Amino acid sequence: MNYSFREKNKIVKFIVIHYTGMKTLKLAYHKLSKNNSNVSIHYLISRNGNIFNLLCPKFKAWHSGKSKWKNYVNINNYSIGIELENKGHEFGYTNFSNKQYLSLKKLIFFLKYNFQILDENIIFHSDIAPNRKQDPGEKFFINRIGVNRFKYKNKLKYKYSINELLSLYGFHKLYIKKYKKFCIQAVKRSLNYDIITSIESKKFYKDFCNLLFY
Ligand SMILES: [Zn+2]
Repeated sequence: MNYSFREKNKIVKFIVIHYTGMKTLKLAYHKLSKNNSNVSIHYLISRNGNIFNLLCPKFKAWHSGKSKWKNYVNINNYSIGIELENKGHEFGYTNFSNKQYLSLKKLIFFLKYNFQILDENIIFHSDIAPNRKQDPGEKFFINRIGVNRFKYKNKLKYKYSINELLSLYGFHKLYIKKYKKFCIQAVKRSLNYDIITSIESKKFYKDFCNLLFY
């Protein structure tokens, strides 16, 4: 079995976006749907825009692994997972296709409505496991699917420290403590930087504030 039942007190709150990180769609499809693979996903979107529903969202798919976000631990319990076909950083990371964005936009619109999911809860694998994961990565543009993840309503009142910004972004406090440099890299991926480092430059600070606030 590569999925499990959701516990009654754990309701769907998040959508986690991934890339497949495999050489072909066929390989990814087989791995994600094979009973003994230890991984699974609710939806897979191919480069030509086909949406495959591999597991009903009422079940818990195994896509996030060890993960934390805000005050939540083990995000599979609370999420629906979507994989986008892409070879990934290991096998040749490419831009996501227009058809993929279009299908993802439709799917997310449907899921947001049906599960009452907020824009701020549409998150990346790299956010919830920054020490291990890079997907969907810096070539993924969330604004292409009409999702506005951040933009806190309060204006920037005082100069936040980087740690405070990381916490407002949503990283779990243990991750900020243990994996700060990976958290910064994850934010840089969200900002679609071409080069991903953990350097806290002035430009990064400014871009980070612009990402979070009005
Ligand atoms: Zn992933």
